[in-house]
Amino acid sequence: MTPVLEVQDLTTRFATPDGEVLAADHVSFTIAAGESLGVVGESGSGKTQVFLSIMGLLAKNGRSTGSARYRGQEILNLPARRLNAIRGAKIAMIFQDPMTSLNPFLRISRQMTEVLREHKGMGETEARKRAIGMLDLVGIPEAARRFDMYPHEFSGGMRQRVMIAMALLCEPDLLIADEPTTALDVTVQAQILELLARLKRELGMAIALITHDLGVVAGLCERVMVMYAGRVVETAPAADLFAHPQHPYTKGLLLSTPRLDETVGARLPTIPGQPPNLQRLPAGCVFADRCPYVYDRCRIERPPLSPYGPVHAKSCHLEAIP
Ligand code: SF4
Repeated sequence: MTPVLEVQDLTTRFATPDGEVLAADHVSFTIAAGESLGVVGESGSGKTQVFLSIMGLLAKNGRSTGSARYRGQEILNLPARRLNAIRGAKIAMIFQDPMTSLNPFLRISRQMTEVLREHKGMGETEARKRAIGMLDLVGIPEAARRFDMYPHEFSGGMRQRVMIAMALLCEPDLLIADEPTTALDVTVQAQILELLARLKRELGMAIALITHDLGVVAGLCERVMVMYAGRVVETAPAADLFAHPQHPYTKGLLLSTPRLDETVGARLPTIPGQPPNLQRLPAGCVFADRCPYVYDRCRIERPPLSPYGPVHAKSCHLEAIP
């Protein structure tokens, strides 16, 4: 079956006064219909830039090469007019801060019905009915009464639900959720993740969940792709990656993720050091400066992303990590 999204050798660079920044380096992955992929990495790992490149939302100084196909159709670097038919309608994106997508000066009703009029050609009555139904679906209580409110009249968690409802209005095949729960408290975070899991089940859409937190992907994602310094360093089915991480960076991330069985007050280990400067990447492995297993070869030769068993891939010279 044709994947919903097929990305091949996507490379994104930014021109800056201090030189070129390599934000994503030959990134390749696919997302199947109805699949959920967790894209994990620290800030600056390139995870968000990959999806902004695909959506044609890069900052002006950025440019991308490679390929990104939506259901077989090339969409990377499409002119805005042609990309608009896909962006929002077939592939939708939500962000950490709902206010990046919601206009604070317009009522929710106006913002939602406009999307339906523009993308679906609906009349006002039909658009209102559909939008209120979507607010209901994402768990906004008394949706019909609150439909004409402004964004600031909703709590942070409810605003995030409104943004998800906006993103789902055109029934996208793929929802890209960039740190959708980071700004929320733990209880609301769990509710939003549960909502995304339910919507995925009920609507059958694929999800790309971008996060710095491996704990967040555990409950929602079937597959995980770990990024570091603009590269994919490991990818595997979630259960496999959590049970048998094969890259030292993934292992470090897992060790630094809080677990329910942890003693209260216990200190979690952290990964020492900082990611490399994306303007001056090392010749060998990009993780070498922080890796507890580094050896001579790592400093000279960059490890490619290679299969490890039937469903796992990693970019590390070691046969297996101790
Ligand atoms: Fe560590 Fe070497 Fe593997 Fe890089 S290639 S992750 S430095 S062992």
